[in-house]
Amino acid sequence: MKGLHDANMIAVDGDWRARDLAVLWHPCTQMREHPDALPLLPVARGEGAWLVGHDGQRVLDGVSSWWTNLHGHAEPRIAEAIARQARTLEQVILAGFSHAPAVELAERLLALAPREARRAPLSKVFYADNGSSGVEVALKMAFHWFHNRGIKGRTKFIALGNSYHGETLGALSVGDIPLYRRVYAPLLLDVLFAPSPDAFGASDEDTAIRCADAAADALAELLAAHPDAVCALILEPLVQCAGGMRMHHPHYLRRARALCDAHGVFLIADEIAVGFGRTGTLFACEQAGIQPDLLCLSKGLTGGFLPLCAVLATQQIYDGFLDDSRERAFLHSHSYSGNPLACAAALASLAIFESDDVLARNRVTATRMAALAAPLKAYPAVREIRQTGMIVAIELQPEPDNHDDGHAVEIAGRRGLRMYRKALEAGVLLRPLGDVLYWMPPYCIDDAQLALLATTTAAVLEEACPCA
Ligand code: PMP
Repeated sequence: MKGLHDANMIAVDGDWRARDLAVLWHPCTQMREHPDALPLLPVARGEGAWLVGHDGQRVLDGVSSWWTNLHGHAEPRIAEAIARQARTLEQVILAGFSHAPAVELAERLLALAPREARRAPLSKVFYADNGSSGVEVALKMAFHWFHNRGIKGRTKFIALGNSYHGETLGALSVGDIPLYRRVYAPLLLDVLFAPSPDAFGASDEDTAIRCADAAADALAELLAAHPDAVCALILEPLVQCAGGMRMHHPHYLRRARALCDAHGVFLIADEIAVGFGRTGTLFACEQAGIQPDLLCLSKGLTGGFLPLCAVLATQQIYDGFLDDSRERAFLHSHSYSGNPLACAAALASLAIFESDDVLARNRVTATRMAALAAPLKAYPAVREIRQTGMIVAIELQPEPDNHDDGHAVEIAGRRGLRMYRKALEAGVLLRPLGDVLYWMPPYCIDDAQLALLATTTAAVLEEACPCA
């Protein structure tokens, strides 16, 4: 007898691909590409850096499943923490009620958050349940704080060129990737964009600093041109991930911080993709020695197990909402705000950072990634290889007909699809962003797996890019 509880029976019984395509609408996908151009891989289980299909096919997760996974799939300590929590308290309304995992996680995050000696620390945590929602929270908080003080004119946000902050309408408004934003443009907020500090093509540190300075000068001009109109600047510190893993010098972040202070504008750091060790430090802001006014954390927050977002705020921002009036309160809510299972997963993930000295291990892994990536520069198709911590990006020579206003486009064009398929055949998940192939593996990746990542990338560059 076939039953919902008999997963094996269903796996053997069912044609997962056909059943999937009969009922599912996949994220970020042109569904016409399924099943012929884009193979669908039903995954039965995860194991460390591997994804394992129902037919036993093993695929190395070179992109940490959309940058969420840190310590490996089905990591037993996180799985156990969730199971334990599920047997105790699975979910409770967080308005008027509290629970230990939410409190303990907030305490831990605030203790670990980036810190500037001269500045009052981040001291309050607001939970949302995914990255885009967390960005909405930060934007609304910044605007509402001024509103509560009777300052009604600060309605504008500044975002950076080539930025990405999520897909909900507010988050999309502060994003600058045409493929995602263009069709919705009539619905979006009127946002001011400052140039990206991206150091693409910079041959040395001095040049990267000059790129940062040029972008910061432009930001200064934009702020000066809109006095008392801006409530916040939002940026992705060190790496614009969805924008093609474009990287900038920490100098930009110091200048942006100073400019925000000079103009009385809040700085929102979106570390949703780069937080939790991805750039080499626990948080990217640390490398610039800066502290934002609002910090958005998600993706790796739970080790990649469950959706959760934490928005960390200063006491100054929090205090701006204390009042007798309900309207002055921050009346934003999500049903699953601070879900106990997600908080328990996050606490278990943070414990692994300590017990396994993950940051030290990552330094060794990142050095190995650099050594494996260096020879790839010799391929004619490769234009630039860059790295920040556990992110390696291989920028290819552009294809003349594969452009979207110069911005990276996920799985754009036939070359991207070809590279994706070729890597998958070799047992590696590589998901190019436009002209950029990248490695963003789970931190548990070992030497043999890194070698597979590198040889597969070489094979992909060999076959899929005869564009020289
Ligand atoms: N900000 C950044 C920097 C991101 O990379 C992403 C997701 N790729 C988001 C926000 C949105 O997060 P989510 O997909 O969880 O909504």
